[in-house]
Amino acid sequence: MKGQVAIVTGGGRGIGKAISIALAKRGVNVVVVGTNLETASETASNLQNIGVKSIAVQADVAKHADVKNIFDSTLSEFGKVDILVNNAGITRDSLIIRMKDEEWDRVIDVNLKGTFLCSREAVKAMLKQKYGRIINISSIVGFMGNIGQANYSASKAGIIGLTKTIAKEYANRGITVNAIAPGFITTSMTESIPENIKNEMLRSIPMGRFGTTDDVAHAVVFLASPEAGYITGQVLHVNGGMYM
Ligand code: NAP
Repeated sequence: MKGQVAIVTGGGRGIGKAISIALAKRGVNVVVVGTNLETASETASNLQNIGVKSIAVQADVAKHADVKNIFDSTLSEFGKVDILVNNAGITRDSLIIRMKDEEWDRVIDVNLKGTFLCSREAVKAMLKQKYGRIINISSIVGFMGNIGQANYSASKAGIIGLTKTIAKEYANRGITVNAIAPGFITTSMTESIPENIKNEMLRSIPMGRFGTTDDVAHAVVFLASPEAGYITGQVLHVNGGMYM
């Protein structure tokens, strides 16, 4: 994978940062995308220290113009894009009867529309190369549902339909499209969950531990590798057995 180019949305922190580091360790040059340029730039410096080229691009993946800029910057800097990891994601939790329209819209816009916008640009670039790997970060709750997360669960379930459709559209053009559905991974996204709920969740994980960001990153590296070339339209569950 040495010399390949990856775009990782939300690559500045959390799972996205672990994915960026894991790809860099395989020699992949990484474009780190986030709304916060400072964290994205810090991660890009970390990757340069590993020995690859890396740039940070400030972008809101829900905005078409921002997404266009991610790809323009990538192509002018590196001339190609081999791997896209749609990892940027947010939550705006609330029971459905109290969920505001804006909470619904923003989560769908960032998680689902962002994945669509980035994938559309990536496919255009990848078609020219006749090679590409798109990996979409879904979630266990897209399969199981979760109280308080109607918007988030719907966005993550939507990502599965999107993944399978793009996979079918470009399977014969060297582009694979897969999803990863992480279970409960310790990051800032899960920090605010009350201790009693966390303990309850822990009891439902057969492996008896929460996942790490590296658990997800290793799965991404596999799906991004040339060795995974005959796998497309699939969902890889990384959840310690929480959902089978
Ligand atoms: P996190 O620590 O909150 O990180 C979220 C990342 O998304 C940040 O890098 C953030 O960058 C970026 N982001 C948010 N809104 C964005 C936007 N509009 N445009 C561009 N980037 C944006 O969350 P995480 O736990 O690492 O989650 C990463 C992905 O894994 C998400 O898709 C999440 O849904 C999924 N996931 C997480 C878990 C879990 O248990 N943690 C489980 C299943 C799935 P900025 O701060 O720069 O905006």
